[in-house]
Amino acid sequence: MGTIGRRRLMESAGVLLAASGIRSGGIIAAAAEPSPGKPLQLADFEPRSMLHVPETKVERSRYPLIDVHTHLSTVAKDAHGVGIGEEMQYAAPVEAVLPLMDRKNIRIMVNLTGGVGKGLDETIRKFQTPYPDRFLTFTEPWWERSNQPGYSQFQADEIVRAHGMGARGLKVLKTLGLYLREKVSTGPLVKVDDKRFDVMWEACGSLSIPVAIHVSDPEAFFLPIDRFNERFEELNNHPDWSFHGGDFPSNAELLEARNRVLARHPKTQFIVLHVGNDAENLPYVGARIGELGRQPRMARKFFDKYQDRILFGTDAVPNGTDTPQQIFTDRLYEIYYRFLETEDEYFDYAPARVPPQGRWRTYGLGLPDEILKKVYYENAARLLQVKM
Ligand SMILES: [Zn+2]
Repeated sequence: MGTIGRRRLMESAGVLLAASGIRSGGIIAAAAEPSPGKPLQLADFEPRSMLHVPETKVERSRYPLIDVHTHLSTVAKDAHGVGIGEEMQYAAPVEAVLPLMDRKNIRIMVNLTGGVGKGLDETIRKFQTPYPDRFLTFTEPWWERSNQPGYSQFQADEIVRAHGMGARGLKVLKTLGLYLREKVSTGPLVKVDDKRFDVMWEACGSLSIPVAIHVSDPEAFFLPIDRFNERFEELNNHPDWSFHGGDFPSNAELLEARNRVLARHPKTQFIVLHVGNDAENLPYVGARIGELGRQPRMARKFFDKYQDRILFGTDAVPNGTDTPQQIFTDRLYEIYYRFLETEDEYFDYAPARVPPQGRWRTYGLGLPDEILKKVYYENAARLLQVKM
């Protein structure tokens, strides 16, 4: 009786808050109401924190920033995860992106997936040419040709051509290591440190343009999708994100191969996206907020130690509903600002009904101004050779 009474009380309080506009949560008690002692579906469980802790709304970042990790365009066609052809698709027109950038104090967006060939040229024309001080574009490897004779030199020449067109870096998706195969989409997987790409890495080094590389994925993606998996719901919603079984290498094998690439090309600057596993070896590191925010003391030490190498990057994609942790909205940036600037406790790392990557909440780092400036723009401005 006591439990039910308290629950009713909480629900009516929730309705009041929603009605007065203080909290815009999901629908109150829309899911099947469990009665005491009856099981509740995990998907229906939406616990609301009862902590009375400060809630700071940070609408604008304290300093202007460079978001080094966004996807405003993508290659339109793919075969088993490998981009095919030059045709591009655009998540939003530039006019739809700029107002949010201005509201959120985002000075520059780096569109990593700019494509190849004519597609790259088109992407640059749409974003970077009209707004050269607001958008930078990276090119991508021409995976489709990776099994053709003369590929290595062709690829290196393409990097030079792309740079001439205005590309400011090279983006390597996890295609390399997890999707690209000897016959592009069939045959054995191509290794991250395959020698055919050496000329490509070197070309980026000689042009002094960075390589943003995404290798592997969260460790949980390499484990069975079972009740022990801390990202069970995420993987259960996206079973194709799992790299467990099949002929996939382990997470450790992928990262070791990546480290061999970094070691072999010391003159090339790599931006290792989503926080590489062994930070000691990484020239540059990008952040994934959900994982950093649940270990705030470790993360704070990490930011202190690597304050000159950490870049701000959200992985934002305009529109879409599939991955709330990366949809380009005001709320997404407010969460990042709250995480970096405040010492708020136990808040959601994504604008979503249920935490989409795992059922935990995060804690703010309250970074000092000096480190904030470096992370928001100074480090990226140096690397990308832009003035702020
Ligand atoms: Zn990304």
